[in-house]
Amino acid sequence: MHGPHDAVLRAPPSGHAGRADPPSWYVAGRDHVWLPYAQMKTAAAPLPVVATQGSRLRLAEGRELVDGVASWWTACHGYNHPHIAISVARQLEALPHVMLGGLVHEQAARLAARLAALLPGDLGRVFFSDSGSVAVEVAMKMAVQYWINHGFRGRTKFVAFRGGYHGDTTATMAVCDPDDGMHRLFKGLLPEHVITDLPRDEETTAALDGLLAGRADEIAGILVEPLVQGAGGMLFHDAAVLQRLRVLADRHETLLIFDEVFTGFGRTGAMFACEGAGVVPDIVTLGKALSGGTLPLAATIASEKIFAAFWSDDPMHALMHGPTFMGNALGCAAANASLDLFEREPRLDQVKAIAARLADGLASCRGLPHVVDVRVRGAIGVVELDAIDIPALKARFVEEGVYVRPFGRIVYLTPAFTIGEEDLARLTGAIVRVLSET
Ligand SMILES: *Cc1c(COP(=O)(O)O)cnc(C)c1O
Repeated sequence: MHGPHDAVLRAPPSGHAGRADPPSWYVAGRDHVWLPYAQMKTAAAPLPVVATQGSRLRLAEGRELVDGVASWWTACHGYNHPHIAISVARQLEALPHVMLGGLVHEQAARLAARLAALLPGDLGRVFFSDSGSVAVEVAMKMAVQYWINHGFRGRTKFVAFRGGYHGDTTATMAVCDPDDGMHRLFKGLLPEHVITDLPRDEETTAALDGLLAGRADEIAGILVEPLVQGAGGMLFHDAAVLQRLRVLADRHETLLIFDEVFTGFGRTGAMFACEGAGVVPDIVTLGKALSGGTLPLAATIASEKIFAAFWSDDPMHALMHGPTFMGNALGCAAANASLDLFEREPRLDQVKAIAARLADGLASCRGLPHVVDVRVRGAIGVVELDAIDIPALKARFVEEGVYVRPFGRIVYLTPAFTIGEEDLARLTGAIVRVLSET
């Protein structure tokens, strides 16, 4: 089940012996790197990482941490998988990058055909980009222009949901959960969309039905993270919610967009959440684990119905978008290698096994002070608290030899699918221990 790449770096020395001075690159550069989501004045200094392997990060001081996050859940095969490394190295020698302006290369063509074959329904027209946020922006642009090309003006708003996260760019911030402050902070810059409750029951379904009936001529599409709302709070919903969205989108003749940047590539237990839920959207976005956590790559995939609206003799009906590095050959080579691994290695079985171990390992968090909920879906383990001292928790996790990065009131694990049993037990054990202390 585990290949040689799963061999970990040398076991960490126990205790705290031999802490060396930070490396010179760290001292020279640290103050020049502006970190994400960080109050730079008060945030803890970033940990200098000098090597990765499997599910481990090696710090400059020599210590190793078991990685519970897999670099924002991108490194689904663990770090440094040799098959991806070799594929990217070969591609680097042959053809690192050509623009897709009038050109195409084998890796992009193969990847597009493979994604089309893997996705359900006739989702088969692949538009590449370089980040999840841009993939979502492209999906939004496609939806708006779909209506324009059909002669409808004014369908420029999206219905999105509380608890959702779709990215950090201007268009995508505007469809995130409004309570995170960005909507208020950037009022005036952000377009206003309709952010409402997921149709979880009769009442919320009727409310959404009514909303769509009243505003159908303003709405370009419904945008949702299927099955798991990730960075907005690791909230789960079931397939019935997505089936209702499909029914409502069809009834009110609007488009359904699934943002699978988080859920794609096995994270929820199926290769894609849409497939797991048995619902085919009109547009789907992919990113994060697409390249196996190695290179920035994302994609927006449209169905034939969407693509057909752009197929015309009118140049104004073309999709006017084109990121410079779209379809980057190194990224596509990494993604093709990643798909090889999904074919050759038992990733979805590993996800199932991780789900069982997460449920087991985190169960004793229930009943601890401040713990509101413990939930697991696929290779996602979540402990929700009612209050949380994030800096203190982060520091304690590092002392425990694990890298876990809580946000909001959420402590979560999204490990590599190749993580060994012992390392996974270290992660869940550390969470139980640290939360027991609070
Ligand atoms: C991370 C994420 C994004 C944004 O992707 P970036 O690559 O960070 O731009 C969009 N949607 C979802 C669901 C995500 O999890």
